[in-house]
Amino acid sequence: MVNREIPKVQYAIIGGSGTWACDFPEDIGLEGVTVLERDLEFETPFGVTVPFKLCALQGKDGQERRFLTVPFHGLKGLAPHNNPSEQIFWVFQQAGVKFILAEGSGGSINPLLEPGDIVIPHDFVDMTKRRSHIHEFTDKLIRMAKPLCTDLRSMLYKHADQEYRRVFQRGVYVTTEAPRFESEAEIQMYRDARGDIAAHTLCPEVYLARAIGAHYAGLYIVSNYGEGVNTAWQGESIFDWYNSCALPIGRIMLRTLADIEPKATCDCMSFRTDVPKKINQRIRA
Ligand SMILES: [Zn+2]
Repeated sequence: MVNREIPKVQYAIIGGSGTWACDFPEDIGLEGVTVLERDLEFETPFGVTVPFKLCALQGKDGQERRFLTVPFHGLKGLAPHNNPSEQIFWVFQQAGVKFILAEGSGGSINPLLEPGDIVIPHDFVDMTKRRSHIHEFTDKLIRMAKPLCTDLRSMLYKHADQEYRRVFQRGVYVTTEAPRFESEAEIQMYRDARGDIAAHTLCPEVYLARAIGAHYAGLYIVSNYGEGVNTAWQGESIFDWYNSCALPIGRIMLRTLADIEPKATCDCMSFRTDVPKKINQRIRA
């Protein structure tokens, strides 16, 4: 059922293939995490969303944190033709969300990475061909310096390091066009461009987050070698990784959310620049 009223919350978790194999957050089994409402679909200028859940947990400061969560990056099916990111970020903007954690998986570009490794990217390259809707969320100029929140990344690292043997605190995430994977020549080109992992969801999420004035970071499990990176790789199932990572990645997401300090120390918000009123009037005439 489509809901008209969007709850006011400061926090959000965008679920991806990391928790695809479980019912999030119910199956994670962490004490004090409750689902307040489920099946919340919202009408947006970009179409009706997939169902959200409204949840709560206790922050490390003892205060209750309410958060919205949505599975599989808001996608209906595998292809992003219906602007799922714009749908969910429109809801986040109306809700007043200020802190967003995302998770997912990717293929390796960097030959040092192996399936099962965890990457918390610090930067990105956008190789998608989708139209940007950033101007429908803000009239500010959005700089992409330090695009992934340094505060959130260090909290994700702290909790990921307790669950996984190899966690990388930096990495360049190349966003490629869903739903297909990349060719060997494309992976080679992304390696030349200093990419580390290739996947489908960081863009447009990362710049829509900055457009709405929210801190954003993500954590991704390497689920396969990029094409041609390891010629001995037989294309083993990425779904085996999804089945084994759902609970640990779910725990990392919830523990990180509980750790977030409402007063951020990063400089994410300094990269949103007001356009002088006179110029704004002229370009919008
Ligand atoms: Zn930040």
